[in-house]
Amino acid sequence: MRTKGAKVKPGDKIYAGNMGKAAAFFVIGKKDLALGMNILGAHIDSPRLDLKQVPLYEDTQMAMLDTHYYGGVKKYQWVTMPLALHGVFVKKDGETVRVDIGDRPGDPVFGISDLLIHLSSDQMEKKASKVIEGEKLDLLIGSIPLKQETDAKETKDTVKANILKILEETYGVEEDDFLSAEIEAVPAGEARDFGFDRSMIMGYGHDDRVCAYPSFQALLNVTEPEYTAVCLLVDKEEIGSVGATGMQSRFFEDTVCELLHLAGGYSELSLRRAMRHSKMLSSDVSAAYDPNYPEVTEKRNAAYFGKGLVFNKYTGSRGKSGSNDANAEYMAKIRNILDHRKIAFQTSELGKVDQGGGGTIAYILANYGMQVIDSGVAVLNMHAPWEIISKVDLYEALLGYQAFIEEA
Ligand SMILES: [Zn+2]
Repeated sequence: MRTKGAKVKPGDKIYAGNMGKAAAFFVIGKKDLALGMNILGAHIDSPRLDLKQVPLYEDTQMAMLDTHYYGGVKKYQWVTMPLALHGVFVKKDGETVRVDIGDRPGDPVFGISDLLIHLSSDQMEKKASKVIEGEKLDLLIGSIPLKQETDAKETKDTVKANILKILEETYGVEEDDFLSAEIEAVPAGEARDFGFDRSMIMGYGHDDRVCAYPSFQALLNVTEPEYTAVCLLVDKEEIGSVGATGMQSRFFEDTVCELLHLAGGYSELSLRRAMRHSKMLSSDVSAAYDPNYPEVTEKRNAAYFGKGLVFNKYTGSRGKSGSNDANAEYMAKIRNILDHRKIAFQTSELGKVDQGGGGTIAYILANYGMQVIDSGVAVLNMHAPWEIISKVDLYEALLGYQAFIEEA
């Protein structure tokens, strides 16, 4: 936030962060804030494996880290692949130590073992949800024992002791510092061009960075919009938008209060009006049609690679349950804007009726009475370690988001 007393004016760029995990970025518009904002909202958490609070142990001279998976994952996809570790240790004195290891060339990687096929006759009989159990997602991280003094007694857990020595030397942390750490295991390596024609990108966490990134870029591209433009990037969507940094927290509403206060026009009524008169694109990924699995989609209402920004009027499951079903009037307005600018878009449902479903942050903002619709980029392999998108769709998303904040 700005210094006290400084008036906000059209074109001002203001942001507020929330615990390093969520943020709201504003470009102040010409119109009064109480007339509403044009909001691009996306989430910046992705499915992953979090280290437990007491993760480190040794078993048969192998050092291991115990994990608890985060978000909806097919656990069997996460074994036998290189994983990187990212996150923080926060020490008791408040010092934060960053951990980023596994993504640079030459870095070591980590990983989860799986049974050799030769001994898997029991495992291969299990159903997919049980074939790799949650408690078997432990990372192997070391196998060398700490060098002993020759006359010292044999101590136990010497491999773990050696890992602790390395952690002390590298990060200045001790075992208890895992108690106040947030460290995630994620697929190691960069996003890459995909296909002979390089038309696609394979990467980790497209859900939902492939919407968060163009949302933020679109905001940077506008200078003095009519209505205040917002890019809202939130955490914890994959586990229900809960907690202080999820969409259900008051962070965004409080930040709008602060803005109204800065503009000299705060009142409960102006806040309610600013929220109610806003329009939002809840920007989250959509399931792309998969030629290997045509049976889960209904062809006329599926999203396809290369056909542009996807709009989901509703999501939910079992009869639209839990969905934000956007108004026809709002969809009409958006169609008009995109057609006018010749931006490619398509509409879709998340799979066939009764095949499952999913949700986004849309319904939470719709509670304020604002107009909200889900829109985003189609993804193959959603929630797998490596997801795939079409470059054309990403570009059309950027154009579509920018058109929305300039014209909605
Ligand atoms: Zn997701």
